[in-house]
Amino acid sequence: MRLSRCFLPVLKESPTDAQIVSHKLMLRAGLVRQTAAGIYAWLPIGFRVLQKIEQIVREEQDKAGAIELLMPTLQSADLWRQSGRYDAYGPEMLRIKDRHEREMLYGPTNEEMITALFRDDVKSYRDLPRTLYHIQWKFRDEVRPRFGVMRGREFLMKDAYSFDLDEAGARQSYYTQMLAYLRTFQRMGIQAVPMKAASGPIGGDLSHEFIVLAPTGESEVFYDAAFDEFDWAQPGLRYDDPAGLEKLFQQVTATYSATDETHDEARWAEVAEGRRRTGRGIEVGHIFYFGKKYSESMGLKVSGPDGSMVTPEMGSYGIGVSRLVGAIIEASHDDNGIIWPDAVAPWKVGIVTMRGDDAPSIAAAEELYSRLTEADVDVLYDDRDERGGVKLGSMDLIGLPWQVIIGPRGLEKGVVELKNRKTGEREELSLESAHARLTA
Ligand code: ATP
Ligand code: MG
Repeated sequence: MRLSRCFLPVLKESPTDAQIVSHKLMLRAGLVRQTAAGIYAWLPIGFRVLQKIEQIVREEQDKAGAIELLMPTLQSADLWRQSGRYDAYGPEMLRIKDRHEREMLYGPTNEEMITALFRDDVKSYRDLPRTLYHIQWKFRDEVRPRFGVMRGREFLMKDAYSFDLDEAGARQSYYTQMLAYLRTFQRMGIQAVPMKAASGPIGGDLSHEFIVLAPTGESEVFYDAAFDEFDWAQPGLRYDDPAGLEKLFQQVTATYSATDETHDEARWAEVAEGRRRTGRGIEVGHIFYFGKKYSESMGLKVSGPDGSMVTPEMGSYGIGVSRLVGAIIEASHDDNGIIWPDAVAPWKVGIVTMRGDDAPSIAAAEELYSRLTEADVDVLYDDRDERGGVKLGSMDLIGLPWQVIIGPRGLEKGVVELKNRKTGEREELSLESAHARLTA
């Protein structure tokens, strides 16, 4: 992408209407623009990050055996009357009437719709277990939308729903999603600690929130430092190994972690003092077993192996895809701007010419740009006729992992500079070696 042809409105001044660093940086670096309270347009650079995050979520769900579909954003009120939630949901639900005065709503979540879809087409135990998911925009009319995309009204969520014949099966589905979540966040380059969550009316230990630590987080958190050394990717653990998955779950739940809602002083006191970690965190995911709540109220039944009718056990598993863009920035930035983890960076490398009027610099930049593009490396070329310092400032602000800085003085010696955004290290090397490093 050539910056001169992109739509990348970078702000010089820090916006005064944003309170937290990720929101400020998302506005300054031109990732999003607010179009109405809590509703955002995703500009090209923000949209690229959103898509990278979405794709990681999708790939990890697929590996865990979940099946993707797509449900609509608009739903009928009648569907929600079947579970009794239409009246219970309250003012967070955006209610709409169509031209025939039919009551509709913009979905805040999809338990009702998935349960109805499953009910209408699945009749036998042979079709279970299943976990279905989609990645779709939600709307919740939050009282106080704030912190940009972190607490928006319209936001992108991955929500998965599991259907099992019995509780043992439902637990396995839960463990499977837990592992998928650990791997998902690990791939994004962030540490999201699973914390015991308030489990709602049916109780049990099967509800966890995944929390990214950040001083601006909305929840207060308490956890055992063992999580700092935790093996998030769990290499070697397979989804078809029920005993292994259960062991992982036991290990996670045996290690203390809680939000202010579930914090237990007695158990906390048992954690060695030197290992107690407290702070604040951002909820980026939530997994939840709720048994027969929706299957029962909505009449979902399948015929069991012995011919009797069975009401399936369900769970739901959410990830805040759009919130993650903000959460990752909260966890990864410095005074100069964003520092994208490689896996979610909008582009891997940015090319900057220090002098926009120097022919050899332009020729070198053009050559590197076209060769990297040909090699399928995501590259942003700042080909604007701007001062070098301004361009370097924008590159730091938008936070691509690598920068190639090209100037007349270096070229005379046959070198360009390769800068690592995270460490700040700069290295002089030939254009050829820079190309080799970035395509390795
Ligand atoms: P919160 O406690 O932050 O209001 P929640 O518990 O109501 O969230 P869930 O129903 O568990 O949210 O939704 C699943 C995920 O969707 C959350 O873990 C979060 O990452 C994301 N999410 C929820 N509400 C919002 C919002 N208003 N803006 C952006 N993301 C959200
Ligand atoms: Mg939640």
